[in-house]
Amino acid sequence: MSVRVLFVTSEAYPLVKTGGLGDVSYALPNALRQQGIDIRLLLPGYKSVLEQLSLIEVYEEIRISPLEHPIRILAGTMPGGICPVYVIEGLSSYESDGGSYQDNKGQDWSDNALRFGVLSKVAALFGQHHLLFKPQIIHCNDWQSGLVPAFLKYTPNPSVRTVMSIHNMAYQGLFGSEMVEKLGLPDESFSMFGLEYHGKMSFLKAGLYYADWITTVSPTYATEIQTLKYGCGLGGLLQTRKKTLTGIINGIDTKAWDPKTDPHLSHHYNTKTLLLKKRNTKNLRKKCKLSPSKSPLIGMITRLTEQKGLDFLLPIIPKIIKSGAQLVILGSGNKEFEKNLKDLALQHPKHLSINIGYNEKLAHQIEAGANIFLMPSKFEPCGLNQMYSMRYGTIPIVRRTGGLADTVVDVSLNNATGFTFENENSKELLASVQDALKKFEDKSFWQTLQNNGMNRDFSWQNSATQYVSLYQRLLTSQRV
Ligand code: ADP
Repeated sequence: MSVRVLFVTSEAYPLVKTGGLGDVSYALPNALRQQGIDIRLLLPGYKSVLEQLSLIEVYEEIRISPLEHPIRILAGTMPGGICPVYVIEGLSSYESDGGSYQDNKGQDWSDNALRFGVLSKVAALFGQHHLLFKPQIIHCNDWQSGLVPAFLKYTPNPSVRTVMSIHNMAYQGLFGSEMVEKLGLPDESFSMFGLEYHGKMSFLKAGLYYADWITTVSPTYATEIQTLKYGCGLGGLLQTRKKTLTGIINGIDTKAWDPKTDPHLSHHYNTKTLLLKKRNTKNLRKKCKLSPSKSPLIGMITRLTEQKGLDFLLPIIPKIIKSGAQLVILGSGNKEFEKNLKDLALQHPKHLSINIGYNEKLAHQIEAGANIFLMPSKFEPCGLNQMYSMRYGTIPIVRRTGGLADTVVDVSLNNATGFTFENENSKELLASVQDALKKFEDKSFWQTLQNNGMNRDFSWQNSATQYVSLYQRLLTSQRV
């Protein structure tokens, strides 16, 4: 059975990406198409999207409230991929300079409700079969498309089913209640049993409340978000929906992230030629102006936010360096974290390299050159970098949460691939790092860890198979 799916997303690599959602929105649809699903993307028409999209043509011109001007839906194909893409063009704010959700100063766009209300509304039109492509399933991703199930609930639709995927509960899309009417949703939707959240309109809650099925990106995160600690205020709602909530671990793009062929690396390697990894380490040290050393090089590539554990990593960086290791950190985000890291680098120029900004090439070089990779996240829905690391023979140290807990096998267990620690504090993190530094001395043990990780299958096919089963189950089950 070929299922028709519209995948609604606010970012998709390589057109536009701010984090993991961008990677998922490229790889999952491709993997699903390979499994015979007729899946197509719907994206806002950001400048970068319009510039990069190939084979673009006007597909439909439509009018939707509250917009005064008609908007166009363009059709194209993902660059380097096979997935058809629909793009909404004509909402001028999509084309403003700055990020997808924030301006250049890091402030949320003041019209985010409109930007993503429009995205959701257009998706709902597809769901009502008012447009040429008539999906049977609309697959929504994060708060930006959370209103789709709400729009469909309150409009006649030919029983299209909705899936709401949570990539990160921390971002919920909260806006003033006046947006309910402005976007054309009925008053009755603004209730505790609907999209209202403490007097505000919540895009994410709308998705979680009205969607036929909810998924998130790892089984552990699916359990965690039903609790007070991780539910970001929506744990209770998710508990009531636990029978229709599944965790499906993300895959990674195994073509883009392959140490055997990665175009960003000076030396390619596999499990049999692991010695060549050392040349990447040497080059990385040189590039980052670190002193030559035989001790381990620790890498980290991250958004600089509290989520990623920066607040309890920062105070122990001098101790990690004192233990003999060097660090390369690539990231951007919180200005205070950026400043503190840069200050530390001034104190330890030969042992700590801080690279502020977004740099795809350096990210690949860090994955290949580092010996150890740090992800001490407070929460991590799935996480991609720990999987890239294992694939590159770079041993991850992670906090046991979300997808990190589901993908990294601790050193104390059979088939170990990395180091895990339980609690979000400097002491446990430091103990884990020191344990790793000690075990690094045992070359044959280290190589076993590397081999175990490099031999794991992190491809999207396994996840895609689980989404296919979910779509089929939804289409054959009665609507509740
Ligand atoms: P999140 O989505 O929470 O940011 P993930 O680990 O799931 O974290 O995905 C992050 C993705 O973004 C990875 O592909 C990672 O390599 C990439 N990334 C994050 N920050 C940077 C950066 N500064 N430069 C290059 N790539 C980055």
